Amino acid sequence: MLVAREIGRLRGAEAGPTLIVVGSLHGNEPGGVRACQRVLDTLRERGLSIRGELLALAGNVGALGEGKRYRVKDLNRQWTSQKIAALRGRDPRDDDPEDREQRELLAAIDGALDRARGPCFLVDLHTTSAAGFPFVLFGDTLPQRDFAIALPLPIILGLEEQVDGVLSEHMSKRGLVTLAVEGGQHDDPSSIDHLASVIWIALSGAGLLAPSDNPELSSSLAHLERARGAIPRVLEVLSRHAIAPGDTFRMEPGFANLAPAHRGQTLATHTKAGGTPETIRAPHDGFVMLPLYQGQGDDGFFWGRAVSERRLRASRLLRRLHLDRVLRFLPGITRDGRDRDRLHVDTRIAHFYPLEVFHLFGFRKIRQRGPVLVVERSKH
Ligand SMILES: [Zn+2]
Repeated sequence: MLVAREIGRLRGAEAGPTLIVVGSLHGNEPGGVRACQRVLDTLRERGLSIRGELLALAGNVGALGEGKRYRVKDLNRQWTSQKIAALRGRDPRDDDPEDREQRELLAAIDGALDRARGPCFLVDLHTTSAAGFPFVLFGDTLPQRDFAIALPLPIILGLEEQVDGVLSEHMSKRGLVTLAVEGGQHDDPSSIDHLASVIWIALSGAGLLAPSDNPELSSSLAHLERARGAIPRVLEVLSRHAIAPGDTFRMEPGFANLAPAHRGQTLATHTKAGGTPETIRAPHDGFVMLPLYQGQGDDGFFWGRAVSERRLRASRLLRRLHLDRVLRFLPGITRDGRDRDRLHVDTRIAHFYPLEVFHLFGFRKIRQRGPVLVVERSKH
């Protein structure tokens, strides 16, 4: 599939928000670009005028041309502050294919931010190799929660934070309200329908198109509601089942990308390098997310559970009241000297705090460094 970086740009006469939609950051996921093209065509055919600006960008143009996820490295793992600083400081003649893609994308996004006449939003469109349900992932901040909750898809809290260097996380650090969507299986035509519905809903959610002027809003909402099926509205990741190089991992057959599992159910068999096979069972009733069935990867699956409306409301209230400030006065917990959204938990003292306490306050990126647990949340 051959496309230009800029799929389309519509600028309203009236000032307003900017919505940047990125499709096909992975080149084997053409559905994102197709969905952008379809929505832009409809907007133009119907002569609909928007407020602010809509900019649709193709992610990995070169890999799209070859139908591959990427050419030399995953373009959706390159968006850390260090990598971007290195890229900006380097001679473009030394760029590899993905560096070139990233440099052009940054320039296009920076341009849109320079032209912005209001708040800025970014939606990153993906598809998956496994069959299953479309879903939303985003960094758990309150403005992003408000934007994502408008989509009647399963929302997965805490998944974006499990991988480093994704575009949406970088852009939310720069102050944009962002989300990413997995629209369905790569070559399934219904994935394009799902992703186009997401764009229509985001156009109104971000404020570019009043709901009453949006001809596709109610059908898009109904469409995604149907696609969600019986999957709960909000799920949270509790743990990641990691695979190290040299391990053998075999997922039990039959799990969709989001699938309920009951306590004690066999999920996978994991043989660590040089070890004996170990049966992995569900620790309680919950959900398997993104099981690894094919290809390479270091995520066997993610494990999580449904979040009730009541817990969502409780967490919103706690964070509105800034009760999270008391967290750092608890024994064993110190705030990072340089980053107020990062806490250090000494597990020798504070081993009894359930992870749930941190989840409630939006601290979802959790890394063990020796005896210290570093917990971090998205900026807002
Ligand atoms: Zn992708």
